Amino acid sequence: MGKHRCLLLKNITQPNQHTLAGYESRGGYSVIKKVLGMDPAKVLEEVKTSGLRGRGGAGFSTGMKWSFIPKNTGKPVYIINNADESEPGTFKDRVLLERDPHQVIEGMLIAAWAVQSNWSCTYIRGEYGFPYSRIQAAVDEAYAKGYLGENIFGSGFTHHMVVHRGAGAYICGEETGLLESLEGNKGQPRLKPPYFPATMGLYMCPTVVNNTETLAALVWILENGGKAYSEIGVGKSTGTKLISASGHINKPGVYEIELGYPLLQFIEEECGGIRGGKKLKGVIPGGSSFPVLRADELAGVTMDYESLAKAGSGMGSGGFMVMDETTDMVQAALNVAHFYAHESCGQCTPCREGGHWIEKIFKRISHGNGLVGDVQLVESICNQVAGHTICAFGEALSWPAQGFIRKFPEEFKEQIGDALVGIRKRKEALNFEHEGAH
Ligand code: SF4
Repeated sequence: MGKHRCLLLKNITQPNQHTLAGYESRGGYSVIKKVLGMDPAKVLEEVKTSGLRGRGGAGFSTGMKWSFIPKNTGKPVYIINNADESEPGTFKDRVLLERDPHQVIEGMLIAAWAVQSNWSCTYIRGEYGFPYSRIQAAVDEAYAKGYLGENIFGSGFTHHMVVHRGAGAYICGEETGLLESLEGNKGQPRLKPPYFPATMGLYMCPTVVNNTETLAALVWILENGGKAYSEIGVGKSTGTKLISASGHINKPGVYEIELGYPLLQFIEEECGGIRGGKKLKGVIPGGSSFPVLRADELAGVTMDYESLAKAGSGMGSGGFMVMDETTDMVQAALNVAHFYAHESCGQCTPCREGGHWIEKIFKRISHGNGLVGDVQLVESICNQVAGHTICAFGEALSWPAQGFIRKFPEEFKEQIGDALVGIRKRKEALNFEHEGAH
């Protein structure tokens, strides 16, 4: 445990890795050639054995997700590469798309063979202009060389692939919101049940939606075997994870770690410690929808699904945000609340209204107008939003708000206290002016 380990990023600094020639010169596309000779059921078995879990945030078993795809329905089966990376603090798929796009395509082809899909799509967020140009160019190159289209690698297997740009809505990263958007509708999530993508996905056909990093990981897994992958990491958190580290650290960037890496060691050894020699105050380990953890809670916490959940937060998408002692946690809570209030798709009343209420309350506290009972009010709103909405966005807006008020109550109390002093002083001043007028 406690390792920086490169399975996915091993070639990203190599010259021309983003081109087909560069990728092939380092063994690229050799795995899919082998996989196309395997029984699809065996490919699924290898992925199950690997223990790979979705890297977009939910952490659900990839093999299990594929196994929900019904067979012989007579309908097409679709593969979607979810590259709508929009969670604040998360920028790891971007590196794969920009620097090693053929690894992503090869991973998509492996998934396609396993579930016998002849059509796939990369759904990429609209703001990712450069990554879009790289993945589109890679798809074009693969078509030109016959690696996509009819009878790929002489196997008789047909697979078509397109790249689709989103228009910049966070909620289109939610798998059913993505499918609605791809169909040309408003990107509003569907109810689950009944609309599980495996059976009622794109155009109501069986669909697998996997995150970019998840798909890219398949290349190593099918090259080295699921068992070898399952031996990396810790417990049910197998393999490696890309972490996008940002905030008050000396070396922000994208790191690939073996799951189980001690969190404090990661900050010191990979991220170069806290900027300016300051003290650590808190960390959001999994992207902004996960609760913040205080520095004094981090001893013994490791970067994997189980340990972070036990600590009261989560691995999420690996959007790792570090805050030093100078951070105003009320302001941080307001920033996060503003984002989620803005990004609600508006279908569910608790989410549409609750997000704005939370933002309003944090704003008045941070502007010196907080009221006694505001913290309890935020808690109550969060409890009425989480678990009462169509999609998990309800939790995404409630959990971080609850995290900030629960983990840093003294700061909220202090700023509300300051506001009360301010109100008293303003009242006294008004009384004085009033009396002076007589
Ligand atoms: Fe839309 Fe929010 Fe409801 Fe999700 S929870 S469907 S984002 S309104």
